[in-house]
Order: sequence, then structure tokens, then C-alpha cells
Amino acid sequence: MTIIEDQQAKYLIKSLQHHPSPYLILSKNTGIEWMNKSSQYVFDTSNIEDINITPFVSHGTAKKIEAIGSSFQSDLELSLRKIKFLLRSRVHEIPLDKEESFFLVEVLAQSEAALDALKNTIACLENDRIDMAYQKQYDLKTGDLVSVETLLRLRDEAGNIIPNDELIPLIEGESLFSLVVIASMQKLKEIFVFKKEKKLDFTVFLNISAYTAMQENFCNLILDFVSENDLNPGDLGLEITETAELEDRTRAAEYFEKLQKHGIPLALDDFGAGYSSLSYLRDLPITLVKLDKNFSQTVSREDTQELVKFVVTICKNMDLGMLAEGIETKEEEETFTKLGCQKGQGYFHHRPQFLEQFKEEF
Ligand code: C2E
Ligand code: CA
Ligand code: CA
Repeated sequence: MTIIEDQQAKYLIKSLQHHPSPYLILSKNTGIEWMNKSSQYVFDTSNIEDINITPFVSHGTAKKIEAIGSSFQSDLELSLRKIKFLLRSRVHEIPLDKEESFFLVEVLAQSEAALDALKNTIACLENDRIDMAYQKQYDLKTGDLVSVETLLRLRDEAGNIIPNDELIPLIEGESLFSLVVIASMQKLKEIFVFKKEKKLDFTVFLNISAYTAMQENFCNLILDFVSENDLNPGDLGLEITETAELEDRTRAAEYFEKLQKHGIPLALDDFGAGYSSLSYLRDLPITLVKLDKNFSQTVSREDTQELVKFVVTICKNMDLGMLAEGIETKEEEETFTKLGCQKGQGYFHHRPQFLEQFKEEF
């Protein structure tokens, strides 16, 4: 008898078919036997054959967190048509009768928007709809190019760009996001080839959330990338965002120190907004402070100018570079220059471009 023919299971299936969370039923012998509509939506599949869960009874990370029945949270390894990734799930082991039992797997997500982000990310990875755009960062006094920020560009089915702010915050805590980081680094190779060919001298900054940066394998991923692509010190840099996630500061400092020793400069992104704090400048081996865009939007105000001057002074005294981003007008650029800010970035000077167009500017 297959599980879905069982009376209890039939009842369960009926009640979960239209549940907003993705559910899957897994038998110990035959793998996935059923998925609800939400699962089919997230994994873009109507065919159960397309998707597979690595048997998790023996899965190392599976952890029993409660003794009532047997429900536990686990990172399940899931293979879809083209990709393999870990998925945060809650698993219930449900007894059919004494001998046989099956697993009910619930994919954990915070919201419907998070499920959409999961779906879109999976689709982008499967269909190679991941690209990078490049925006120049320049010396405010001379206008010279000093570095370039790389910006992720994910596309939906219709070819439209999915706004980063709508997707990244919802997905970057998932291990699936590491596949996006790997895919974007593959793309990044091309700009280094171009840079070498043309003998251009600038740092290419990659955005990395503190969460990603602190993952076990991240340091090696970056260092391998540097050696495989034969990069020189200062070729690749990292912009660290979402520093609220840097819980263990000592470990973060050691870790960033290691990257810096290998010639990878670190920028502190969105400084002055959210949780980015002054003490990071003391505790982490930062070389560049990136003032949050919000300061550019309000830089005509006197109180904002006072704050900018304050950061300029700190950066000068601590021998750190300082960059104002989101500069959209000539007036804003002039104000930052007058206030002593060293570098700038924004639509006024340069709009993010895909590589082909970016190359034509040299
Ligand atoms: P961010 O690091 O602060 O990046 C700057 C954002 O400002 C980019 O938006 C850029 O296109 C936009 N921008 C540049 N100049 C101007 C300007 O003059 N005015 C205004 N209003 N905006 C300007 P984007 O590409 O949508 O990225 C949004 C955020 O997504 C980024 O903020 C960054 O936190 C994150 N992000 C982008 N690419 C990656 C990535 O590869 N990995 C990770 N983890 N996060 C990324
Ligand atoms: Ca950034
Ligand atoms: Ca920023």
C-alpha cells in the first residue's frame, strides 16, 4: 500500500492541499510521495520525479528538539532538476500503524513574500538568470575611477529585474543563497579578465552580508577564487552589509584580518544606518567607510552636513577611506567634496551597467 492510499494520510492530504506553507509527504522506502499546491508553486514542479530529498534519518544536522511525538527541525538536502540545496524544514514522523510511518515535511519560511523569494531564487539558479552590474566609485576631487561595486541582477521569467531589496533580505539567511554567491562569483571572473587585458587598476567590490561572510566555508571560497583567477592584492574587495549579524565580533575580526592579509580590502557598507556602529571601525580591519545613501538624500540639510563632517573627521583620524554613495546631483557632489569626503558613487557620475556596456566605457 502506498501512503497516499491510507485513510489517515488521505485525510491529512485533503486538509493540507491548499495550505499556504509548502508540505511534502515522504515515505521511508519510496521518497517523496506527495506535495501540496504551495510546494508545487515554490519548486515549480508538477512532477514529483523532479524533486528528491536525501534520506534524512541519518542526516547529521537533524536535531530532535522536542520529545512529544517526533517532530524536529532539520536542514534537509533537496535536489531539484538542476540544483541541490539545503532547506530549513520541520519534519513530523507520523505513525500509520505500528510498523509503518511516514514523514510530513513542512518547508519553513517567515512569510508569503519569503516563499516567493525562495521560488524566484530557485528559478534564477535553475535557469541561469543571474547577472552582475557594475557601478563606478571615484575620487571626488579628481573624478578618477578608484573602484567598482558589483550589484546582483536577478531576472524573472519575463526578463524583468527583480529588485534586490525585495529579494535579498528575505533569502540571504537561507543556505540556498550561497548558490547565488557562487553563481555571481562565476560571473565576476569576466571583469577580472577584462581588467587584466586592459591593465586597469581598480578594486572590484563584492557585496556580502555579514551572515554570508561568517559562514564556515566563505573565507576559503574567496581565497580560492583569488588564487584560481590569479588576482593581485587589491583586485577584489568586499563590502560588508547587515553588520547586525556580526554577533561574535572577535571571530569576525580574526576572519576579516585573514582576508585582509590576503590583499582583500574591506568596506563597511551603509554606515550610519541601522545597526552599523562606530565601534566596528575600532574592532574590524575596515579600510573604507561607505556612508549610507540616506545622507546623500538629505545632504542639503545643515544637520546632515554636521554628521558628515563628524564621519569625515573620524575617517581622517583613523586613516580610513570614506565614500558617499547615492550621489544623484551636481549639488550633492559639490557638498560632499566641500565637506572633505574623499570618494563618491551614484547615478550622477555613473549608473550601474552590465559588463558589455561597462567595457565600452574604457
Ligand atoms: P547597497 O550595497 O547599498 O547598493 C547600492 C544600491 O544603490 C544599489 O541598488 C545601486 O543600484 C543603488 N544606487 C546606486 N547609485 C544610486 C543613486 O545615485 N541613487 C539611488 N537612489 N540609488 C543608487 P541595488 O542594486 O538595487 O542593490 C540594493 C542592495 O542589495 C544593495 O545595497 C546591497 O545591500 C544588496 N546587494 C546588491 N548586490 C548584492 C550582492 O551581490 N550580494 C548581496 N549579498 N547583496 C547585494
Ligand atoms: Ca554595497
Ligand atoms: Ca550601501
